[in-house]
Amino acid sequence: MSSRIQWVNLPEKTHGDDSEQKRKYLFCNEIKDVNDMGRTIFIQAEFDSKAASAIATLEVIPDPGNAVFSETEAAGAAAIHAQAAIQSDGKAEFAVRLSTAGGDKFKFKAHDTNGTVKELSDQFETRRLLYFQVFKIKGTSVGAGALTHMKNEFANGANSHKHHITLVQLGSEQEVDGPPIVDGSPPGHSVGDYIKSSRDSGKDPYCFSVLFVDQIAEPVEDKSDYPVDVDNDPDLNELPIYSTKGPLWSVGNTPEEQERKLWLKEAYFLEASGRRLRIEPAQIKAQAPDSKGRVFSFVADLSGLPKGTKGKAHFVFLGSDFTNGFSPRGKGFICVAARSCWDPRTESSITATLMHEAGHKLGMVPVGQSTHYNENNTGRHCRHEINQCLMFGRQHLKRSNSFCPVCSESLRKMDLDTRGNVDFTPP
Ligand SMILES: [Zn+2]
Ligand SMILES: [Zn+2]
Repeated sequence: MSSRIQWVNLPEKTHGDDSEQKRKYLFCNEIKDVNDMGRTIFIQAEFDSKAASAIATLEVIPDPGNAVFSETEAAGAAAIHAQAAIQSDGKAEFAVRLSTAGGDKFKFKAHDTNGTVKELSDQFETRRLLYFQVFKIKGTSVGAGALTHMKNEFANGANSHKHHITLVQLGSEQEVDGPPIVDGSPPGHSVGDYIKSSRDSGKDPYCFSVLFVDQIAEPVEDKSDYPVDVDNDPDLNELPIYSTKGPLWSVGNTPEEQERKLWLKEAYFLEASGRRLRIEPAQIKAQAPDSKGRVFSFVADLSGLPKGTKGKAHFVFLGSDFTNGFSPRGKGFICVAARSCWDPRTESSITATLMHEAGHKLGMVPVGQSTHYNENNTGRHCRHEINQCLMFGRQHLKRSNSFCPVCSESLRKMDLDTRGNVDFTPP
């Protein structure tokens, strides 16, 4: 007989709260009954009515192919047995807690008070379900292939490394307003602001958002010192200064934006005597962009310095450190870039980033996994270079767009009840 599918990450049927209200938001056409949600299932067994008021035991028989939970992961494991009182009509109802994993199968045996064992016909198989929404900042170009790959990679299928996570897209893709280069600085992650007002909150907290943007970069501080001897330096009207940390940050496209010089933090002249002279922003201007639109240098006009001045001109400015994507802690969205440093990314590399960030959002890579590492606190990643795992922490030319077998096992067991999970907090 076929197994009944149980969506273990979704809320249980409970009494005395507003769960009836909550549950109506959780239905998609795959879930037919409220009893199909949550880790707790109810199994009925019939005994000889003479045994009424005795305690009967239900033995849970896991399939040999089920996920294996270690001692530290015990909270996610299924119950081994359950007990219930036999009613006067000989019936007993057992509440059984299934595992957090996907693709786990269970059968049951009832033991009566005389030690007679009865195999029950009930069979259950576990699944997880999450919703996602898709946004694009206007002007961003991303093909649909990456999202299709994401759905397939998390779902179950013929491939034994699939994860029994059904991802259901909520609504259709929406375009939102936002800048051409999104600021990916970790503390702010204000990127969520671009989707806040367009989001559908109906499936919260079982929904995350995917935001495709044109480019993502962080401003990084750069410095340059330039020795100046006014009497002997003929080219003071056009001192060229080059960025060593990528293109200048936020140069702007219109004259008004360019006038703001967001990339310039500070400029001053320090004389050998210790006297400090301010260099006005008006004396500094970004050079023309290259053919791709990047600006790597600026010029300063110091010709107005008094005769006889000797010392150093100091410039503090911002370069751009490009990133392919991120999954902010404490926010229910991921962000993926279509281009990096003005170069278009291939669909395969965009897919790799989408999978990597979605992996993070769902809880990868758990501390305790044998291949886990977290270099300089830059995120929980998988050391599996040989396996070409997509949870490896850096761009990796050979990186496949699949999870390695070690990550795959973690993902299969992962508790995706996202209530109380800060990483699913609406942006
Ligand atoms: Zn990462
Ligand atoms: Zn891995």
